[in-house]
Amino acid sequence: RQRYGEITTVEASRGKPPVTQDSVVILDHGDPVMYEEFWRREGDSASILIPAWQTMSYFSNLGGICCFLEPGLEREVRRLHRLVGNAVVDGYHVIVGTGSTQLFQAVLYAISPASDGTPIDVVSPAPYYSCYPVAASFLNSGLYRWGGDANTFAGDDTSCVEVVCSPNNPDGGIRHAVVKSKSSKAIYDFAYYWPQYTPITEAAAHDVMLFTFSKCSGHAGTRLGWALVKDTEVAKKMTKFMELTTIGVSKDSQLRAAKILGAICNGYEQLPSAGQTRSHLFHFARDKMAARWTRLRAAVAASDIFTLPDELSEYCGFFKKTITANPAFAWLRCKKDGIEDLESFLRENKIVTRGGTKFGVDGRVVRVSMVDTDQAFNVFLDRLSTMK
Ligand code: PMP
Repeated sequence: RQRYGEITTVEASRGKPPVTQDSVVILDHGDPVMYEEFWRREGDSASILIPAWQTMSYFSNLGGICCFLEPGLEREVRRLHRLVGNAVVDGYHVIVGTGSTQLFQAVLYAISPASDGTPIDVVSPAPYYSCYPVAASFLNSGLYRWGGDANTFAGDDTSCVEVVCSPNNPDGGIRHAVVKSKSSKAIYDFAYYWPQYTPITEAAAHDVMLFTFSKCSGHAGTRLGWALVKDTEVAKKMTKFMELTTIGVSKDSQLRAAKILGAICNGYEQLPSAGQTRSHLFHFARDKMAARWTRLRAAVAASDIFTLPDELSEYCGFFKKTITANPAFAWLRCKKDGIEDLESFLRENKIVTRGGTKFGVDGRVVRVSMVDTDQAFNVFLDRLSTMK
């Protein structure tokens, strides 16, 4: 047993000031600070201490395909998927990334055909996650470029890369690939395929599946994501991308993520110690999201000017019952005449959201985060319910 003397916890800075009744409420990012309440209650069961002499090497597993992947993280990722039942892990490589944002670039690099000078089109059905067009085009790559709405490629013979986001950011829809051409490839973005957001209906088994720690446990600031990849050559090329861009992924983040994912699994698989209550992250987050959605639907029903997508419900293999979906974003539409730019209208009411045009659709709809603090959500609802 090592002694480390006086250990004090560090205080991380917060990007946003606390929300008051008069302040601007910023809900344009899916900043998952809602989870802080759960992890504060957990105390130290998911905390780690990293002595200054640890995590110094670039490498974690020199014999493995992904040589900077911490074996402990790989173990916990596989364990969590087996617990939740949302993805098949046997026969898949785990590749770690600095958020799934980095992995998205890595997959595009790995699966785009060897360039003959013409970049392959990256498409997704509108409304699509607003970061896809930017990520696919900002480097002006010779390998790939943003190609727009996947629906315009359906049935076409042209090959492309389709990003399938399910449940979809921004509208929460359950999605399957729409592009039919055989030479096309799909990337499944499963950022929200967790039981607090949607019923788990199958263990997904696609060639490339992306997951993010940010939306699973709420630790967006740890900047950690992982890909489950079937093909060994694709896994190797993705690893190469990570080596070329950042020579691997922060080991400190990986160790922290491993500990936290392990704590989530322990909460379900182990009995609590005497005097402690069971720690069930997915139950906490689902209950919280469901309560928020009920209140939001009531406020929208009472208003004359807004609508939301219909509520979806299905049998969930994780909760072992039929549950409603509680998307991480509200896709809020305005039906009032004369409001063509809902983002600006809400901003005048001190609510910052992201407008439909960034998702490839019209401006009468916006995306609103449902995973912010209670204070922000409450002030948002108060303001929404008085708008006429
Ligand atoms: N995909 C989707 C659909 C997302 O909503 C997000 C986060 N907003 C990401 C990927 C990126 O997540 P990360 O924090 O892991 O980079």
